[in-house]
Amino acid sequence: MFTFVLSCNHIGTYLVSPPRLGDEVSCMTCWRLGRDANVTVDRPMDSWRVRCETCHYSRDTGADRSGAIRLASKHYARFPSHDVQYGIRGKAKSYRRIGTPVTQDPLLF
Ligand SMILES: [Zn+2]
Ligand SMILES: [Zn+2]
Repeated sequence: MFTFVLSCNHIGTYLVSPPRLGDEVSCMTCWRLGRDANVTVDRPMDSWRVRCETCHYSRDTGADRSGAIRLASKHYARFPSHDVQYGIRGKAKSYRRIGTPVTQDPLLF
């Protein structure tokens, strides 16, 4: 999943074949609001990802950080011996390990 900030400041999400920066796209949010929906792609948005080093489980959650934490916690709860991590896609240094059960992760509260 690829997430971009558009020139109207709304968010555009693309499952396959992301547009390039500066491309003209249609903004569904503007369209729903009855505004001019012809906008351009402004910048990429951080996209969150869950990955497991043990079994190669991985999921993209787009702009949804808490969704990534939730999925990582769920996988860890199911397989406590697995090395489950979540972070920003493409930024290896942003990854954190899930090392505590769901109810003890302070990030969830
Ligand atoms: Zn818009
Ligand atoms: Zn796993």
